[in-house]
Amino acid sequence: MIMNTNEAIPLFKEEIRCRRCGRLLMKGLVRAVEVKCPKCGFIQVIAAQTSKK
Ligand SMILES: [Zn+2]
Repeated sequence: MIMNTNEAIPLFKEEIRCRRCGRLLMKGLVRAVEVKCPKCGFIQVIAAQTSKK
């Protein structure tokens, strides 16, 4: 069995990108935030995708 204890857990850090221009806005776990892109000024709501059942 391979142990990847030194690697970051990919599910924990989520990349939040601007839906308009694709600029990386933040990383981390997001529940629900409203963020304005500093590049293009597009205001968007980022909500966690709860696709688990
Ligand atoms: Zn943008």
